[in-house]
Amino acid sequence: MLQKNSLAWGRSKSCIRELAAYGAKRKAEIGAENVFDFSIGNPSVPAPPEVDASLRALLETEESVTLHGYTPAAGLPSLRTAIAVDLNARLDAPVSAEGIYVCCGAAAGLAACCRGLLCPGEEAIAFAPFFPEYRVFVEGAGGTLVTVPPAEGLQPDFDALEQAITEKTALVIVNTPNNPSGVVLSAASLTRLGEILRAAEERFGHTICLVSDEPYRELVYDGTLPPCVLHFYDDAILCYSFSKSLSLPGERIGYLAVSERMTGRDEVFAALAGAARASGYVNAPSLMQRVIERCLGLTSNLSVYKNNRDLLYTGLTALGFDCVYPDGAFYLFMKCPEPDAKAFSERAKQFELLLVPSDDFGLGGYVRLAYCVPEEMIRRSMAAFGALAASCGL
Ligand code: PLP
Repeated sequence: MLQKNSLAWGRSKSCIRELAAYGAKRKAEIGAENVFDFSIGNPSVPAPPEVDASLRALLETEESVTLHGYTPAAGLPSLRTAIAVDLNARLDAPVSAEGIYVCCGAAAGLAACCRGLLCPGEEAIAFAPFFPEYRVFVEGAGGTLVTVPPAEGLQPDFDALEQAITEKTALVIVNTPNNPSGVVLSAASLTRLGEILRAAEERFGHTICLVSDEPYRELVYDGTLPPCVLHFYDDAILCYSFSKSLSLPGERIGYLAVSERMTGRDEVFAALAGAARASGYVNAPSLMQRVIERCLGLTSNLSVYKNNRDLLYTGLTALGFDCVYPDGAFYLFMKCPEPDAKAFSERAKQFELLLVPSDDFGLGGYVRLAYCVPEEMIRRSMAAFGALAASCGL
């Protein structure tokens, strides 16, 4: 017997991947230089040289059987310690090595949180706009995804959150900096979020876990790192990935960091480990664990994204488009000048502009532009955006 949900997820393509596939076809037809592909969030800057240097050094100096062998399920003890030390030093985060679970990227970490912390029939809350895979992870665990619309500036709407929390709420997911909007959760928003969740825990008499999905933590452009969620709420878990900060999305490496202050921390950790085990993850890639231990604290050259952000935001607003100012990540969220985002995305295709309609992010009326692209493509795309603006009467 086929599992109904799995069959549906396996058959359906994400609108991002669908647009990227259309882009590949179009590039073959009319030449890559004539297509302005803002569809997919694949890092466009190379990993820092230390990554390749570490790989070479490991291959030359370490013994093969160990290097490519299984590691403990939660990760190499030395790496777990190094991650905890790094989080203590950079974010003053209340975590220790015992709370670090090294996993196959943020996707595997989020899936483990859903499978480990959500019982069938329970609810997980996400704030729109959100990463579409949250729905798959939550429903894959037998839970229900409850979505909360945004307030002004795309910060969470806390009145709506209070309405959305029920006694079935087991998990709340935040994502900062945000994909697709680039918005960073402010300290004021996190303070309010913590107050509401603590009150709800009191009211319902059970833990509500806050999972902070942070693969873009270092991709912020106008100041310091985003506020650390663990300072605002005790029952919290950081979900991190090296996919974007070190440009390693295909290498599948990240971690979960369970707060020292989490209620029943050891049990929660065991449930996450069990969920990863039930998913057959065994351990995160052994070679990459060793590379990460040598490269913690480094990033790719992220200034490239800041430059792209400035170029795109300035160019599009000058043409009359209404854009959310992205503080972080490498996405720009643009309001559609017509009500239907899918129709606007189709219109943009006529000008060879590939913009992802926002509907799958849980919010209508916007398109997402991934600006992890060559700078010269952004410059060349401006004429096409000008024609798009004119076609909309801007
Ligand atoms: N969460 C968000 C918000 C993302 O944008 C992504 C990937 O784009 C992920 C999680 C998954 O990232 P990873 O490559 O670490 O699995």
